[in-house]
Amino acid sequence: MALMGQMMSMPLLISSLIQHAARHSGDTEIVSKRVEGDLHRTTWAAVELRSRQLAQALARLGLSAGERVGTLGWNGYRHLEIYYGTSGSGLVCHTINPRLFPEQIAWIANDADDRALCFDLTFLPLVEKIAAQLPQVRHFILMTDRAHMPAQTAIPNLRCYEELVEAEDGRYVWPEFDENTASSICYTSGTTGHPKGAVYSHRSSVLHAYGAALPDAMAASRRDVILPVVPMFHVNAWGLPYSTALVGCKLVMPGPHLDGKSLYELFETEKVTFSAGVPTVWLGLLNYVGANQLKFSTFKRTVIGGSACPPAMLRTLMDDYGVDVIHAWGMTEMSPLGTLSRLSSRQLELPQEQQRRLLEKQGKAIFGVDMTVVDDAGRELPWDGKSSGNLVVRGPWVIESYFGHDGSPLIRVAGADGRDAGLWFPTGDVAAIDADGFMQITDRSKDVIKSGGEWISSIDVENIAMAHPAVHEAAVIAVPHPKWDERPLLVVVRKPGEAGAALTREDVLGFYEGKIAKWQVPDDVVFVDEIPHTATGKMLKLKLREQFKSHQLPGC
Ligand code: ADP
Repeated sequence: MALMGQMMSMPLLISSLIQHAARHSGDTEIVSKRVEGDLHRTTWAAVELRSRQLAQALARLGLSAGERVGTLGWNGYRHLEIYYGTSGSGLVCHTINPRLFPEQIAWIANDADDRALCFDLTFLPLVEKIAAQLPQVRHFILMTDRAHMPAQTAIPNLRCYEELVEAEDGRYVWPEFDENTASSICYTSGTTGHPKGAVYSHRSSVLHAYGAALPDAMAASRRDVILPVVPMFHVNAWGLPYSTALVGCKLVMPGPHLDGKSLYELFETEKVTFSAGVPTVWLGLLNYVGANQLKFSTFKRTVIGGSACPPAMLRTLMDDYGVDVIHAWGMTEMSPLGTLSRLSSRQLELPQEQQRRLLEKQGKAIFGVDMTVVDDAGRELPWDGKSSGNLVVRGPWVIESYFGHDGSPLIRVAGADGRDAGLWFPTGDVAAIDADGFMQITDRSKDVIKSGGEWISSIDVENIAMAHPAVHEAAVIAVPHPKWDERPLLVVVRKPGEAGAALTREDVLGFYEGKIAKWQVPDDVVFVDEIPHTATGKMLKLKLREQFKSHQLPGC
């Protein structure tokens, strides 16, 4: 008979993270730029107490274990209290992306069967508009104090967050339950089809918090001051609300103020050392510091992910500003972290240019995620850095099924040795993995350009355009072609100023010379004022493809 371990059997619960932070880093600060306009300061101990008060208040409202509480909120201490107050008490925290269309928000809240909705003042008009479409929501809670409550509102029974919290005494003991209980739910952004819910468990969230904090992942430490630019409604801010509690560091929350100037000022005044966000926000910040010839005094490291980090951005941050860039890849279905580009001791001895090329890739899997690439029949492809195929993953923080959907999204994989390698989650990304395990995404399968039987990676083509000094942003999309099926069209936003204004189609196309094979160079360039972005800040190629589907390519 197997000998069982004789360790304490304690479930991995989200409440243990906030209790640890309160007990061992209780006076460490949490600073929030509030919607109300001011800078608010609190501590882990105070947040833990108020999370308990909130748990009491939600129970008093009649919410019971397993019920979903929706949020429409920016990054701030109240949102953090809701994370812990809900999950910690057995409720399920459902962060909704407020940048979606109102109908989509209502659809998602109904699909998740949200019973309460907490929202920041910014979103009062939005919630007023959709409240009537949310019949299951019994409580609308405005995340503010009495002084900021509206005199009149169309929302029946609108409650004040501060009043609810302050009415409780905090004498509440975090309950203990099965670690596989649902803790939170996030919806994919639904760039194709309806969004789908990924339900995380306490166990998966705590394991992810450990994994994310490791030195070869985000390297979060209590010596850090961490500012998550990535919103708390984008895959739980990549787990940072949990990992920061786990390490007990100072946390700085930017609220809705994500423009270059506001971020820069917060980085400097609060001595931020580490941040994380999608490439688009760094574009704004870099433009601001560049235009004003500023430097960062404490900012040393950033995780960039959510979409491919253009090499030009990585190099600017590293060479001009001394900020280490950790390129990361993941997705809602993976909590979200999968890979990060961190070098081994051996790779740190390579010439700098080779190191840079590795850092530009999406990187290596962290423990907790296994990955490989397979062909269309599910057969594993070699890890030679060249064979590109469908990227599949598995691990304790990867989903097994979608909320409310019968049927499994998983696929069966045959290992390189031909043996059954079990069930894996297909990511929808196309990638190659090299012999050192460094993964590089070539595309999302739906964004690949199929030209005459060959594939063109839109990411590669975009990255070159992004390195042009007069280009602000660039997207490559496939447009139909009579001979080649599809050919690449480059959509460019010019940089503000003289250089941008003078930029021509020929300049951009000429810039490709010698950088990629001729057949991969876009057939045409169009200039636009703005590239549409998804609610999580990614280029919305679906819309661009729609807009330019009848674009006449030269010579057609
Ligand atoms: P959505 O499908 O809602 O956009 P996610 O935020 O979960 O949702 O996005 C996951 C996808 O984003 C990945 O499957 C991948 O296509 C893309 N992605 C994330 N990080 C990177 C990266 N570093 N490089 C390239 N693509 C990325």
